[in-house]
Amino acid sequence: MKGNIFVISGPSGVGKTTLVKKVKKVVPGLWISVSATTRPKRKGERHGIDYYFLSEEEFRKKIEEGYFLEYAKVFHWYYGTPKEPIYEQLEQGVDVILEIDVQGGEKLMEIFPHGVFIFILPPSWKALEERIKGRKTEGKEVIKMRLERAREELRYVERYTHVVVNNHLDTAIRDISYIIKADRLRKERMKETIRRLNVHTG
Ligand code: 5GP
Repeated sequence: MKGNIFVISGPSGVGKTTLVKKVKKVVPGLWISVSATTRPKRKGERHGIDYYFLSEEEFRKKIEEGYFLEYAKVFHWYYGTPKEPIYEQLEQGVDVILEIDVQGGEKLMEIFPHGVFIFILPPSWKALEERIKGRKTEGKEVIKMRLERAREELRYVERYTHVVVNNHLDTAIRDISYIIKADRLRKERMKETIRRLNVHTG
């Protein structure tokens, strides 16, 4: 594969979605994978841009068809990564960034052993709690569930290749862009440049 995958995981409320969108703006040659989900659409979300919003029946059908690279149940809903577009992008030398949960992250670690797996940490537990509680779009039950799950998810940090603390947004964006840049400079990804130079020096 000519491109690589960059997986962004971390507890709910840590700011993954914002980070991914901002990183896309500053790093050229990056493609954001759009997941499918059975979760109801939140205010402001758009079908095909934030997610492909599917019914449970549609989602199950796609599972059977082998449409997903990975899928997982998070809270009450299914989330899945469409397979084909990822391989298309990678084959064209485009790097793919995916915001997925820790279950999905683990599956992709098996499929892409050379992938880059970035875990986003909050500056403190208290900060995370405040962010989750401040999400006005969700009810009390959902908030409680997200807090519990956040604790569970934090345990997975050890399995990831990189850790970024989202304290100051700009710093976190820069950190992720450095990680991507460093991966692009790995000699395995510089083969074409090396080959060209060898030819010229003959
Ligand atoms: P939310 O409902 O807040 O958009 O996402 C809930 C969780 O599902 C987040 O941790 C998000 O990273 C995860 N998620 C989103 N898309 C996918 C996916 O395609 N696969 C997996 N495994 N998790 C996903």
